[in-house]
Amino acid sequence: MSRSVLVTGGNRGIGLAIARAFADTGDKVAITYRSGEPPAGFLAVKCDITDPEQVEQAYKEIEAEHGPVEVLVANAGVTRDQLLMRMSEEDFTSVVDTNLTGTFRVVKRANRGMLRAKKGRVVLISSVVGLLGSAGQANYAASKAGLVGFARSLARELGSRNITFNVVAPGFVDTDMTKVLTDDQRKGIVAQVPLGRYAQPEEIAAAVRFLASDDASYITGAVIPVDGGLGMGH
Ligand code: NDP
Repeated sequence: MSRSVLVTGGNRGIGLAIARAFADTGDKVAITYRSGEPPAGFLAVKCDITDPEQVEQAYKEIEAEHGPVEVLVANAGVTRDQLLMRMSEEDFTSVVDTNLTGTFRVVKRANRGMLRAKKGRVVLISSVVGLLGSAGQANYAASKAGLVGFARSLARELGSRNITFNVVAPGFVDTDMTKVLTDDQRKGIVAQVPLGRYAQPEEIAAAVRFLASDDASYITGAVIPVDGGLGMGH
């Protein structure tokens, strides 16, 4: 089985681990990146998901090389943490524009081919804080919670077309995004995680690969926590 897979933000962190997981099992994997040298071994397309024209261009390149996208992993995301009273309009809208509206852009475009093919797999990368909340991350948590309503609506809208929409909600993962936390913050987080450690990006990738596999053919509209037990019960 060699499917056309797209991972947004697949040039580093969790996205790169996801891209590798699909490539390792023989899929044709495209990744997006914004700047610098993308990692080797993938079809790398330059794309900022806040720009609809760049999204359209990226899909054209991928379709020309790999055919229509059959598995989409909307992983690209940003944080811009700030307490509410100090959070600017720009802090809020830029995070929502990337994490939520950016996901809308790439999902909508992928759906064109999936509708034609009458099948498709879409996995959105949310976060444990989307449902748990996080002081200083109202913008980020709102955007990540929004992905759940988005995915579940599409699961209903497009289930009859054999397209599944699922959400993976990682806890704290060892990547550039969490490197900015201080040692004290890190210790405080780990103390609340039943498994007592951060996740490695590969542990998130395993859940994503499962949701895109034949074994997950009857799963849609699900939120799968991969968080070491941090969000237990949500
Ligand atoms: P990183 O900061 O390491 O990587 C973020 C990725 O998103 C990069 O590839 C980046 O591209 C891409 N990206 C950001 N903005 C845009 C944009 N406007 N257009 C296109 N690509 C963009 O983050 P992680 O790997 O840690 O996170 C990946 C996903 O997982 C995110 O959605 C994040 O919210 C989520 N997550 C992460 C957790 C963690 O603990 N690390 C926990 C829970 C969820 P570029 O290299 O060009 O900047």
